Amino acid sequence: MLKLKNFFLFTILSCLLIALVGCGSAKETSKETAKETSGEPKNALEQIKKRGKLVVGVKYDTNLFGLKNPSTGKVEGFDIDIAKALAKEILGDESKVELKEVTSKTRIPMLKNGDIDMIVATMTITEERKQEVDFSDVYFKAGQALLVKKGSKIKGVNDIKKGTKVLAVKGSTSAQNIRQKAPEATVLEFENYSEAFQALKAGQGDALTTDNSILLGMQKQDPNYVIAGDIFTDEPYGIAVKKGETELQKAVNDFLKKYNTSGQYDKLYEKWMGEKPKK
Ligand code: GLU
Repeated sequence: MLKLKNFFLFTILSCLLIALVGCGSAKETSKETAKETSGEPKNALEQIKKRGKLVVGVKYDTNLFGLKNPSTGKVEGFDIDIAKALAKEILGDESKVELKEVTSKTRIPMLKNGDIDMIVATMTITEERKQEVDFSDVYFKAGQALLVKKGSKIKGVNDIKKGTKVLAVKGSTSAQNIRQKAPEATVLEFENYSEAFQALKAGQGDALTTDNSILLGMQKQDPNYVIAGDIFTDEPYGIAVKKGETELQKAVNDFLKKYNTSGQYDKLYEKWMGEKPKK
C-alpha cells in the first residue's frame, strides 16, 4: 500500500516537473519570437545603433591611454581617441560615445554585466581572457618592463632578488607575469596605476611593473623615474566585446583595418607616443 502511494506521489511530482520545465522553455521561445517580430535589437551592434550611443570602458588613471584631466574633467589618451573614432565609424558622430571608468580588475565583470559595450583599456589579448571575452585584432603592441627611481641598482628583471618589492596593479597580466619571471620578488598589488605610481614615489617599493607604454606615460609625468632594461613579455592590446558578439567584433576589426590603411593610426600613435609605430 505504502509502495503504491509512493509510486503515485512520484508520478505526480514528475509530471509537475515536466510541466514546469516545458513552461520555462515555452516562455523563452515566445520571448525569442517577440524579439524577432517587435524589431528589438538582436545583438550588441544593433543595440548600440538603436541607442545611438557607444558605451566604452576606458582607463581614467593611465597617462597616454586614458587619463582624467582634473582641471578640465576630460578623459584623454590614445584609447580615448580610438573609442571616439569607433563611435564615428559605427554611429557617424564621434561625440556619440559615453566613457565609463574601468580598472584592470573591473573591466571584464563590467563588460559581462552589460555596463559597457566594449573595453578599450590597455588590455592584453591572452588565452585566459579569451575564455571570458572576444577580442578584436591587435591594435597596439606593448611589452612588460620595470620603472625605477633614477640611479636605482635595478637595471632589469634579473636584478630582482629575494625581498625586492615590486608594485603592480590587481587584475593585470603584469602582476601575474612578474611572479613567474621573478619568483623571489615581493609583489604588492594596487587598485590602479595612479595608486601604484604614488606608492613608488612614496618609497613603498623598489620598482613598478607594467607595460612599457604605460611606464612611458609615468616617466613623462615625473622624469625622476625611468624605465629599467628591456621588455620581458609581449603584451598585444585588443578591444574586448562580450563573448559571441561577432557582428560587433567584425565592426571593430573593419574599423581598425580602415583606420590603419588611411594613415590615421600612425598619426594617432605619433600624437601620443611621440614617435612612429615600429612595423
Ligand atoms: N596590458 C596589461 C593587461 O592587460 C597591463 C595593463 C593593464 O593593467 O591594463 O593586464
